[in-house]
Amino acid sequence: MLVSSTGSLPLVLTLGVVGLGLQAANATHLAGQSQSGVGIDSHMHIISPENWPASPIGLQGIIDGPIDAQTIGEMVDAARIEKAVLISGAYFFKDSELARHENEFTAAQVSADPGRFVGLCSLSPLQSWALAELEYCVNTLGLEGLKLHLVAENMSLTNPEHLATIAGLLARGAELSPGLPVLIDFNWTDDAQTFSLIQLAFANPTINIVMAHGLGHHFSELAAIHLFRDVLPGGLQNLYLDVSATLFLYPPDSPPFENYMWHLRRFGTERIMFGSDYPVDSTREALAALEEMGFTPEELEQILRTNAEMVYRFQ
Ligand SMILES: [Zn+2]
Repeated sequence: MLVSSTGSLPLVLTLGVVGLGLQAANATHLAGQSQSGVGIDSHMHIISPENWPASPIGLQGIIDGPIDAQTIGEMVDAARIEKAVLISGAYFFKDSELARHENEFTAAQVSADPGRFVGLCSLSPLQSWALAELEYCVNTLGLEGLKLHLVAENMSLTNPEHLATIAGLLARGAELSPGLPVLIDFNWTDDAQTFSLIQLAFANPTINIVMAHGLGHHFSELAAIHLFRDVLPGGLQNLYLDVSATLFLYPPDSPPFENYMWHLRRFGTERIMFGSDYPVDSTREALAALEEMGFTPEELEQILRTNAEMVYRFQ
């Protein structure tokens, strides 16, 4: 959900504004705390001590300091969540050295507790060094996946040039690390973006694409993906969803809630992952919201743990 301040976009789009600025380890206790005591927060942003003040989330006051492994550890401990996927802040920067620093910082945070954390490389796809940075992330830093935020880049999957850039990144990622998870932030303004993404997923079956934020208000497209999965031979087994931020978009007392739940289950709880989008929301708040949705214990186990363990390749 977090986007850069490039262009005229606000820092955080409409989704996910709930809980902004929350310094979560001190969050007020909320109802619906985990009964399981296990699980993975699969969408957490980190940023280094050196670069946080100049990052969009620092400049706009969303954070008041760096986010490191210790911060994340305290955050997930407060929710009794065991593990976390750490997202590099490199995509905030178009300067290659700043981006490199954030990816190296991410690898260093993972190494603080490699059994607990998995790290995602990030980068600004239109920069000339993007492919080289991906290679460095996978081959040298050992980061397990890639995060792309196309809206923050003012990129459109209906723009042939941009589509080719993303296709090139995915193809290289597949060569470097078959099964590479690629988390793509979803703040689309139009449905056509989703269908371009579906085509990308179909063309790159060894890349696992995770669509962030439950497709937001485009969630009705989850039914279309279910249909495509049935009709395309072997197709779209590599499309997953995280419900970060969206948990607060359609709470159980909202009119679209039952509709939203139907679409999530239609897409399949074996493909859905829990995430907080911290620092947008705290892990504890997000978990409480998830647990109020009425998923069965078996579904919660998939959403909270088994899917993320597999997709993000936790050891
Ligand atoms: Zn995010």
